[in-house]
Amino acid sequence: MEKLWRRNVRDIDPYVPGEQSKEQNIVKINANENPYPPSPQVQKAINDFNCGKLRFYPDANATDFKTAVAEFYELEAENVFLGNGSDDVLALAFQAFFNSDLPIAFPDITYSFYPVWCRLFEIPFKTFPLGSDFRINPEDYRAESGGVVIPNPNAPTSLGEGKAFIEKLMDYNRDCIVIIDEAYVDFGGYSSAELVKKYDNLLVTGSFSKSRSLAGMRIGYALGSKELIGILEAVKNSYNSYTVSSIAMAAGTAAIKDKEYFYTTVAKVITTRERVKTELEALGFEVLDSQTNFLFATHGKYSMRDYFEWLKGQKVFIRYFNLPRIDNYVRITVGTNEEMDIFLAKTREYIDFINTK
Ligand SMILES: *Cc1c(COP(=O)(O)O)cnc(C)c1O
Repeated sequence: MEKLWRRNVRDIDPYVPGEQSKEQNIVKINANENPYPPSPQVQKAINDFNCGKLRFYPDANATDFKTAVAEFYELEAENVFLGNGSDDVLALAFQAFFNSDLPIAFPDITYSFYPVWCRLFEIPFKTFPLGSDFRINPEDYRAESGGVVIPNPNAPTSLGEGKAFIEKLMDYNRDCIVIIDEAYVDFGGYSSAELVKKYDNLLVTGSFSKSRSLAGMRIGYALGSKELIGILEAVKNSYNSYTVSSIAMAAGTAAIKDKEYFYTTVAKVITTRERVKTELEALGFEVLDSQTNFLFATHGKYSMRDYFEWLKGQKVFIRYFNLPRIDNYVRITVGTNEEMDIFLAKTREYIDFINTK
């Protein structure tokens, strides 16, 4: 039977998400979820939602939602595409825009979904190694390619690049589509949203899962020129016209309109992030300068794999990637102050445990 499946489908290595657990009392800081609930306006929108409306298909043009997203970014509704999470939007963009014979380009250490989609959709790709400081060298992306995709800030390194970097990238890549994945940008990164008016081959993707606390609702978007958005709509309408559900649209519209809650929540996460970074450094960890809602850290003395496993036994879930170059690093999502205090206490306990063994 197996030989009947298409080879590239059979051979893919699916993306592995951070573990979800039914266990009580765990500190779950392994999936870059937001520790705070969504805006109270989202709760209100859901409470007020008239279920009678569910017998109708959702608004295929998502007019209200697109208008609200466009307003936030000072763009037009025609510059906005919506999907079921940014993974959905990115997968669609890969299919729509990466169809040259030339390989597409992305860093060796990056969001692990990119190579998965390339294999699934038979898109050739080439990776460029990050520098020893884990930074992206824009010069690597000067060569002709079938497209470029870069998360900014990058994951799981947490490092972000500024406007000059993006402008350079766009200057080097005039004849292909450049996708900037901004899943984490709200936590202090530079957003290229303002550049979609300047470069008609730039597609910026974003997510409501992290900074807007709506991972369970599955809302993602892309910002781009009218032309690019038109192509995404055409591809979407070729297999499933109604991606975002009516409830998701109501929730998402309420979330993006509540700017005050958004900025307050993001600021809380950033404050906690910087405190935890300082405390980890005091314990001898090396922690990269994060512009995200997570910290990427290593320690010269301890095995990060053992540390990750030990913490799991203590009901503190962080993330470890057994991948080349980063197999002695851990990724720690920024939780509430209380959660991070437990995490830090357990970390001190681990250090004592190793040193008295
Ligand atoms: C979380 C994440 C996404 C996907 O988010 P959705 O939940 O699908 O919106 C995309 N890119 C990166 C780099 C991410 O970390």
